[in-house]
Amino acid sequence: MDVPAASWLADRRRSLRRIAVVTGAGISAESGLPTFRGEDALWQGRNPMELFTPEALATRTRESWELFDRLRVLSARAEPNAGHRALAALARSHGVTLATQNIDGLHQRAGSRDVLELHGTLWRLSCAGCGHAGVNETAPLPLLPPPCPACGGPLRPDVVMFGEPLPADALRAATRAAETCDLMLVVGTSGAVYPAAGLPAIARAYGALLVEINPAPTELSAQMDYAARGTAAMLLPVIVRALRGD
Ligand SMILES: [Zn+2]
Repeated sequence: MDVPAASWLADRRRSLRRIAVVTGAGISAESGLPTFRGEDALWQGRNPMELFTPEALATRTRESWELFDRLRVLSARAEPNAGHRALAALARSHGVTLATQNIDGLHQRAGSRDVLELHGTLWRLSCAGCGHAGVNETAPLPLLPPPCPACGGPLRPDVVMFGEPLPADALRAATRAAETCDLMLVVGTSGAVYPAAGLPAIARAYGALLVEINPAPTELSAQMDYAARGTAAMLLPVIVRALRGD
């Protein structure tokens, strides 16, 4: 496939060693996962923007957990796509820091390591009562809310719910990557959710090239050095080959 973005990057690839990548819901949508806007039939008429909040988890616990559990089931059934796999391959030739807003674990299943999970993950559960935290990949869960194995209290998913702050460590590492990269790839994100949406501006201020990969223009498009129009699964394999010089 002749992708102009790939030729553009191939011409510059020798100076692009450190690469920061920010991904959003768009790349997982290509694996069949719904976004959080609530129109998707996969939500079965429930609204994740209402139910994925700390207040809903406290007061409508069962309803909120049912939706998280549904998303765990859908994520477990989904397969990483060619976009996820291309990013994992890029890390075998370049210094790559991958920061994702997705909570589905598909980057890790495609082989990416040390993923910065800016919005947490569905696969780790924690207990506010006793501080226990651990990986739990059972989907669907037999009991909702799932009980803490240490104290029996209700567990919560370690995801950043609407209205909650981002995990400070992941955000710090992503900011550092933005400051030190030669190239930032911004993939499948609308650029509407801060502070993740601020990472491209940081990278640009520190002299990196910015490339967007998204089917439609976004709020970030104006900052980009190059905006590649298409899906991650379609464009990333070609772009990664160009960066690797394959
Ligand atoms: Zn506990």
